[in-house]
Amino acid sequence: MARVYNFSAGPAVLPEEVLQEAADEMLDYRGSGQSVMEMSHRSKVYDTIIKEAEADLRELMNIPDNYKVLFLQGGASQQFAAVPMNLMKNRKAAYIITGQWAKKAWKEAQMYGEAVAVASSEDKTFSYIPDCSDLDIPEDADYVYICENNTIYGTKYKTLPNTKGHTLVGDVSSCFLSEPVDVSKYGIIYGGVQKNIGPAGVVIAIIREDLITEDVLPGTPTMLKYKTQADNDSLYNTPPCYGIYICGKVFKWIKKMGGLSAMKVHNEKKAKILYDFLDESKMFTGTVAKEDRSLMNVPFVTGDKELDAKFVEEAAKAGFVNLKGHRSVGGMRASIYNAMPVEGVEKLVEFMKNFEKENTK
Ligand code: PMP
Repeated sequence: MARVYNFSAGPAVLPEEVLQEAADEMLDYRGSGQSVMEMSHRSKVYDTIIKEAEADLRELMNIPDNYKVLFLQGGASQQFAAVPMNLMKNRKAAYIITGQWAKKAWKEAQMYGEAVAVASSEDKTFSYIPDCSDLDIPEDADYVYICENNTIYGTKYKTLPNTKGHTLVGDVSSCFLSEPVDVSKYGIIYGGVQKNIGPAGVVIAIIREDLITEDVLPGTPTMLKYKTQADNDSLYNTPPCYGIYICGKVFKWIKKMGGLSAMKVHNEKKAKILYDFLDESKMFTGTVAKEDRSLMNVPFVTGDKELDAKFVEEAAKAGFVNLKGHRSVGGMRASIYNAMPVEGVEKLVEFMKNFEKENTK
């Protein structure tokens, strides 16, 4: 069996031992005689799976008791609508535009009320995080919205914005569980799991209880009310059972690795190997302001489209796959999520060094 080094931005690499364990349990989950894919979400066996997943996540993120953990569907994109539908009591919110995902969320919110862009880095192709220490946030804004790690552009907030007392909503899809986080700073922290945690199809939303109310915008579908999901412990309808089961396994894997502080050290080590090389290379350059670099998504270019394409093609042949940059920006992007081993990044850099040598006249 030959496994590649997968640098995809998502769905993305998962820990090999998690996949192996799932394979071992595929036909008969722990003596139940069924696969987790086949069992009722109302069964005792499944109840243990989802409860344990939540308990492990609470432990990993140190989630305060006054926050609910919801396992949802619809992708992170559905939260672009769910957030305003549930939170926009004054029909006003502040958005910080740091990339396509933040922009999409902002556009979606405009359907429900006044979504004010209070900062943006679009002037420089989203290659930095704007100064958010003293933003002009409307007094009556219901929340301030950020996309914390910008998957496409490779930037990450190193400090959270000064929300001036407003509720903070953070999309952490591409940095979920990559480092310790203070959940109490957010009203809602949510993300799709298909990058750092599990298979596509599950969204985890961690929501402060006082934000979960019946007082939602008129017309909010039952399924999109946080209250519906919270009152039913994410089992109002059939949840993405198998995906949640895999997430649970990844939580246990992270715990075994030493938790989020250990993940941070592991991720910093990998990112440093790659960024150090980009800083010394004469062929490859990183595209992001150094102080705002993401630990998870590393975009880079050669400055020559044909050479970029050649690199992506030859890298794939050598077993380093999915290095093509997002279709909107071109160039390359290496996503180096939790499950990417250090060795994968070391070998990629070795490959890049050789490529540079062979393609320099
Ligand atoms: N937010 C971020 C930061 C993302 O990277 C993505 C997708 N890659 C999304 C939202 C949208 O996620 P989904 O495809 O699950 O709707």
